[in-house]
Amino acid sequence: MKKIRPKNSTQELLVRKIIDSLGLKYTIHDSTLPGCPDIVFRMQKKVIFVNGCFWHGHNNCRKARLPQTNSSFWKKKIQANVKRDARIARRLNRLGWHYKVIWQCRIRGSKTVGFSKDLLRFVQS
Ligand SMILES: [Zn+2]
Repeated sequence: MKKIRPKNSTQELLVRKIIDSLGLKYTIHDSTLPGCPDIVFRMQKKVIFVNGCFWHGHNNCRKARLPQTNSSFWKKKIQANVKRDARIARRLNRLGWHYKVIWQCRIRGSKTVGFSKDLLRFVQS
């Protein structure tokens, strides 16, 4: 299967910068875990996926709109990705891991205050 998760995307780097500023320790791209999560908090058994809205079929998102041409092809493709993501989430849960998805469209510019709180709450709860 073609890789649908480009590593070190701009959004991912921004999320990592925020986590760095919070002083949290993490590793990245852990291929020993289902789905090779982007950001891994081993101690807390928590992972974060930074998902592109289009490829991961973000619900009701402007960035996830399918192209007009070949729309059934894209629909099938994106639906397969969504199913795959759900499977990965179930596998992680079974292994006792908590996961969070951060959507690409939520990451814009420097308005990250609420975002930091959100991240802290997820990692430390
Ligand atoms: Zn989105």
